[in-house]
Amino acid sequence: MNILIEGIDILTSDRPVEFIKNADIGIADGIITFIVQHGQAPVSFRADKKISGSRRLAMPGMVNAHTHCGMTVMRNTADDLPLHKWLFDRIFPIEAKMTDEDVYWGTMLGAAEMIRSGTTAFADMYLHMDWAAKAAEETGMRVNLSRSPVDFHTEGGLKAIDAFEECRSYFKAWNGKANGRLKVYIEVHSTYLFDIESLEKAAALARELKTGIHIHLLETRKERDDSFARYGKSPVEISAESGIFDAPVIGAHLVHVSERDIELLKDFNVTAAHNPTSNLKLGSGIAPVPGMLAAGINVALGTDGVASNNNLNMFEEMHLAALIHKGAAQNPELVTAGQALAMATTNGAKALGFGNETGRIKVGMKADLLLLDVDKPHFYPLNNPLSAVVYSAQGSDVDTVLVDGNILMENRELKTIDEEKAKFQAGAMAARLISNG
Ligand SMILES: [Zn+2]
Repeated sequence: MNILIEGIDILTSDRPVEFIKNADIGIADGIITFIVQHGQAPVSFRADKKISGSRRLAMPGMVNAHTHCGMTVMRNTADDLPLHKWLFDRIFPIEAKMTDEDVYWGTMLGAAEMIRSGTTAFADMYLHMDWAAKAAEETGMRVNLSRSPVDFHTEGGLKAIDAFEECRSYFKAWNGKANGRLKVYIEVHSTYLFDIESLEKAAALARELKTGIHIHLLETRKERDDSFARYGKSPVEISAESGIFDAPVIGAHLVHVSERDIELLKDFNVTAAHNPTSNLKLGSGIAPVPGMLAAGINVALGTDGVASNNNLNMFEEMHLAALIHKGAAQNPELVTAGQALAMATTNGAKALGFGNETGRIKVGMKADLLLLDVDKPHFYPLNNPLSAVVYSAQGSDVDTVLVDGNILMENRELKTIDEEKAKFQAGAMAARLISNG
């Protein structure tokens, strides 16, 4: 399908051209084929669909670089607890009861929330991943799915179960599917749940499949202390030594990193997925993002699961990422609006392995973008569109969302998800999994 977005202002997130006024964007077969001054579209271009850009601002879709989408059923059920207690006493017992269908509908609900707040791609790490993949495919979103080669039986104590063959089959079933919208990485939950042998085997599997790894790293002080007590080394050093870092890696959190850890992350090109809300809410701390950016590390942004956020709104995450480091260091020059936008878009696309295809509005890139409704008091006057997007915008300002040139939401109406059904199913799941405990 050919789409023409007419008379639109664009925040490209592509340097050096950051802002283009009053342009026409042409999209053919999912690709941005031209960006020209309004009215200058090639006469040969036949649009099947025209979208007015009047009082709208186009920007790249948000990329959520770390979440557990199927967890939406646990929203607002286990709050105000430290991570270890939260995970082992509250989350694992609920997850032990979850079924394929729970994850399917949990993912659908999460996807509806993400599309509504402008997210076009996300990195998902969860359970029953065939059902997460099925839901992801149907939503039309771009998704990096990670499946663990070790399953954990959590009822009556944690027990590791070998699932390398299942992980290999999962990769073969889903990687590259849905016109390349689905990509499969290997999930390594953490260096505290995986032993050295499993870490090395997971690294070998990633090498064999030529794919990446999604791992939680140094989320809490306790994780760091426990790792030193067990190995005399940090989880970052353990990951580097066991071969995990030889693959492209999304390292979620990285709150308690040392200078040495930062050097290793840079040397091995590891992406840091910064989750400011989750880290604040679980009292884990504040990741040294300015230091990681200064070291040249690719820093992306994630919401984490809704059980520790408690939403999947990347505008909120970007806003917070642009603020907390300024406040913590009493330095307003840290994490600029431009850096925050790059973290939420371009850097995230790179983290998920889609960096050559999306994350910027540019000719030749896939049409993964959103239109913000800027005809609202909090956008007036629109003196600086970049500042407006980072400091003034709300997730609810997102009006229209395209992924791969397909319209997933238009004028706030979802096109690929039965939202009423997803909400109903989530309610039924909560009644079974949580309320009746
Ligand atoms: Zn997480």
